[in-house]
Parts: sequence; C-alpha cells; structure tokens
Amino acid sequence: MAGIYLHIPFCKQACTYCDFHFSTNLSTQEEVLALMREELRFRENELAGEKVNTIYFGGGTPSIVGADDIARLIQTIADQYDLSDKLEVTLEANPDDIEIVKLGSWKTAGINRLSIGVQSLNDDVLRWMNRSHNSKQAKEAVHLALEQGFETSTIDLIYGMPEMSEQEWIDTLKYVSDCGINHVSAYNLTVENGTVLSHQIKKGARIPPDDHTGSLHYGILVDRLESNGWDHYEVSNFAKPGFRSTHNSNYWSRIPYVGVGPGAHSFADNIRRWNVSSNQHYLKKFSDGSYFESEQLTRTDRINEIIMLGLRTAIGIDTYSLEAEGFSIFREHEDYLKSFIENGMLEWDETYLRTTRKGMYFADRIASDLFLVS
Ligand code: SF4
Repeated sequence: MAGIYLHIPFCKQACTYCDFHFSTNLSTQEEVLALMREELRFRENELAGEKVNTIYFGGGTPSIVGADDIARLIQTIADQYDLSDKLEVTLEANPDDIEIVKLGSWKTAGINRLSIGVQSLNDDVLRWMNRSHNSKQAKEAVHLALEQGFETSTIDLIYGMPEMSEQEWIDTLKYVSDCGINHVSAYNLTVENGTVLSHQIKKGARIPPDDHTGSLHYGILVDRLESNGWDHYEVSNFAKPGFRSTHNSNYWSRIPYVGVGPGAHSFADNIRRWNVSSNQHYLKKFSDGSYFESEQLTRTDRINEIIMLGLRTAIGIDTYSLEAEGFSIFREHEDYLKSFIENGMLEWDETYLRTTRKGMYFADRIASDLFLVS
C-alpha cells in the first residue's frame, strides 16, 4: 500500500499559530497547480508495484482552489498510479469555503472525506487566531457537509488555550459527539518559533499556553470522547468504530507516500525527502530538479521513528521491528521501562509496548527518553 499527499500552498489569510508552508499571494496558483500535476507524472515510478489507498489534499487551504483543479489533480493520479478499490480521498476544507455547489463538485471529483478546520467554537479565540470563519459558520459547514453525504469526515480542533474554560471545552466536545461526524483530530496549542503568536507572546500581548491547561483539556477530551464510544487510536486522533483514517494510519505505520507541491514531504525506501517551502523556488527550481532535498535514514533514525510513532498510537511499538534493527528496547532501558510499566504509564503484551491511557499524553516525552543516541 502507499499514499499520495498534495500540498496546496495557498491561504486566504495567515492564522497566528501556523507554521505550515503557505502563501497568501494567490497569483501563482495556476502555475503551481500545473507543476504539481507535472510532478505527479514525473514521480510515478516511486510507487511502482504499490497500490495507492489514500490521497490527501493538505496545505495550506485546499478548499480555496477551484474544484476543477482538484478534479484535474485526481485525474492525473488516476492516470499515472495504481489505485486501490478502497481509496480514501481527503480534502482539508475551511468552514468559510464549504458551500453546497463546491461540496457537489468535490464529490464528483472523487473526494470522499473532508477534514474541516473548525479549531474552536469560541469566537474570541477564532478572532485572535485570525481564522477566516466564526463558530456559527463552522457549525453550518459541518451540518452541510454531513447533509451532502460526507459522513466519514473529520473535524480539527485546538485545545490548551488559557482563556478556554473547562465548561466551554466540555460543550465543544458534546457538540462534536452529537453532530454526526465520525472522526476528530484535536491538538494541544503549541507556540512555534517565527509565528505571529510567538511574537505576541514575546511582547506580552498574549498569555502563553501552559502545561497545566493542556493536560487538563487533554484529560477532558479523552474522558468525554471515550465515554461516548470513540476509539482513541492515536494521541490526537479519535474515530467512531470503523472510521480510523487510512492516511493517518499509513503515516504511523511508515508506509511509503509521495508528497507533491511546495513544502510537501515524502517517504519511501528509507529515504525522507522534502520539497522547497517556497512557491517561487518550487516554480523556478523544478525544471533542473533542485526543488527538493532528501536524506537516507540511518539505523538510529529508523529506530527512533519506530519508537516515536509507535508510542503515539494505541497499537504501540512493535518490539519485533526494533529487534529486526538489532535493538532490544528492554535491554537498553530495563529500569526505565520497569518503572514506567509499574507506575501505569506503559504496558507490554510480549509484542507491543504501548502507552496507557494515563501515559499517552506524555508519549513524546517518553519517546525522547527511549531514543537511541548515536
Ligand atoms: S488556514 Fe491552515 S494552513 Fe492556512 S494559515 Fe491557517 S492554519 Fe495555516
């Protein structure tokens, strides 16, 4: 199996917390999208022999480009790659772009799953985040998407904002559980260097998120969704039974994928590669092949990826795949693992080592303690 990721590097406006690659200069849209089709054609051999079971339009904001552009990209993929019969095709959409005609066109183009960027139902929060929609629009968009048959769609949420009360978060999760959506991705607000939010915090214009609020909100998130029958299958991801995301699951299982467009990442044959995070440079450098960089993963990189990705998921780390790399995690970290198993943060079933419900919030920290340092 394999995946294709398409990075649509355009947004209407810049959200204050965002450090993804995007541009608000939409004038190069046509050229960039044409080159992405070219890149898809050019790289078809990278997934030779693999069936593609997921196509993911991320960004940026894929919902701001024309539905016909999305259709052309999907058609290019269908022409060049071997597609699975069970194909998940996701498009990230902002609520203010979701309207009935577009939903119909996306469906005709082959999109069968939307990832709706709700982020918050608090209008003050949405304002300081500089989101291009309010909470009413977000709810209307979710309703419309479901009504038009996108029932496998997902909502993105952010928590950990100091000004969001516990009750507000509980109400948001109640809405999520009741609205009919089948998947939720919820992320703790992080302050990335170079973002508007980090400047605001440095100048004292905004209160920084703190660990206490993040873990409190996370506890509420897990309690509320699990008690409503959601499957908590990764630190930040929850699905109604049978609705886990193929795209996400492939990524955590280190299944190969081709990423096209400015800023897109790819993984295959133990090589990670990333395209230049600049629309102008992508356009200029594509023809001479200097639009990306890559690195061959070392044994240490592979081991650390298996540990990090495994600990974030409900399945856990496949300790046999570490053994296959000549690494015995129990020999390396015997005392540490014993104490974390005893204090209920980790559990082991003879094959998989995983974080417990209590330990999952700390998955990244535990993983970094277990990393192999070469
Ligand atoms: S819409 Fe998405 S990609 Fe664009 S700035 Fe906001 S968070 Fe970033």
